[in-house]
Amino acid sequence: MRFEQGANPTRVKAGNQAAILKTIYHCGPIKRSEIAGRLELTLPTITTNVNSMMARGIVRETGSEPSSARFAGRKAHLVDIVPESRHFAGVEIQGMRRTVCLLDYRGRVLYKKEHIGEEREYGKNIDLACGMVNRALSACGLQPEEIAGIGVCLPGLVDTRQGVLEVRPSYNWTHKNIREDMAARIGYQGPIHVENNACARAYGAQLFRREDLGDAQTFAYLFINQGVACPLVLNTAIDFGSVVGAGEVGHMVMVPNGAPCSCGNRGCLEAYASDTAVLHSCSQAIEQGEAPVLRRLRGEGALTMEQVLAAQEAGEEAVVQIVGQAVHILGVAVANINNFACPSLMLIEGRLFSRPENWEHLLEVVRQNLCGVIRTGTRFLFVEPDPFSGATGAAAMAICKDLETYIEL
Ligand SMILES: [Zn+2]
Repeated sequence: MRFEQGANPTRVKAGNQAAILKTIYHCGPIKRSEIAGRLELTLPTITTNVNSMMARGIVRETGSEPSSARFAGRKAHLVDIVPESRHFAGVEIQGMRRTVCLLDYRGRVLYKKEHIGEEREYGKNIDLACGMVNRALSACGLQPEEIAGIGVCLPGLVDTRQGVLEVRPSYNWTHKNIREDMAARIGYQGPIHVENNACARAYGAQLFRREDLGDAQTFAYLFINQGVACPLVLNTAIDFGSVVGAGEVGHMVMVPNGAPCSCGNRGCLEAYASDTAVLHSCSQAIEQGEAPVLRRLRGEGALTMEQVLAAQEAGEEAVVQIVGQAVHILGVAVANINNFACPSLMLIEGRLFSRPENWEHLLEVVRQNLCGVIRTGTRFLFVEPDPFSGATGAAAMAICKDLETYIEL
């Protein structure tokens, strides 16, 4: 890889700067000479750029590597990102809840807050989320202009270039300009990036789960929530943010002419295996008197996945069957995804998989349905469900975009 060549000096300089900053971000603390080696740039080019980053306060020297006996007295200084030099906000807007977080450049969480309660109207969700961002800023003593980027994520089909939610079928939200609507309400002039919420989680994994990813060249992030999505990521150290589409596997047909789905089609994966589908089937079982344990756990409130899993653990037959069917159909879907895309690693986040018994069932079904010829050796990793993984993933996306577009001419 060589960054210095090209006819347009401005573009070359910007490309070099972004590449140097990303290398420091991913590999820091790092020696200047090692950056030069990795990027095939000259040491003076690295030194000039690192000096200007240090002058701006985003990079600093963090000590030196112990000098070897041969070069005694000549210590190479290491440089690294200054975590507190930039701040990013992350927002996830779901109908049932909204979450907001503030992170520093290294992803340390400075603030996080959750607001629970169903709200189906788009404008009210935006008002609530923007109010939460403003409260986060004042809690951390920051002005909007001190934020380097805001990431926003939500379920549905998103035009990431325009920052527009194209469609979210279950709530009838169409053509919503999230970027404009939030910029106006927060009074923010900086970059606002909008993504599907499964893709945002993939960004979060790519930035903050480097150890889990290891040397995986590609990974898929299966996210099971109100719907099911599975973005695929081309994962290399420098080319960050290659998240390929939202991976709307939730609407692949698993049962021809099967159960109706919110998209208008029938037999989709989501209609069987999403949290929404599981909760719906369990509610029906309660109404038909087949799930007395779950009825008692539910009490007077709305049914939750935690209660469903507790009833499964207690061995309530109707619930065991419903959860078992959802896990089975997810296992077939996972095998199909692997037969098609062969990722090196698949991360799986879903409340169904907070119980290890359900992991084992899923992996058993995957093994039964993987194509014997392919046998790619995909690694599977169950991610502990985290209510803030969407908001922190959205902030991670804002950090990735900031690194991609770093420019100082
Ligand atoms: Zn569907």
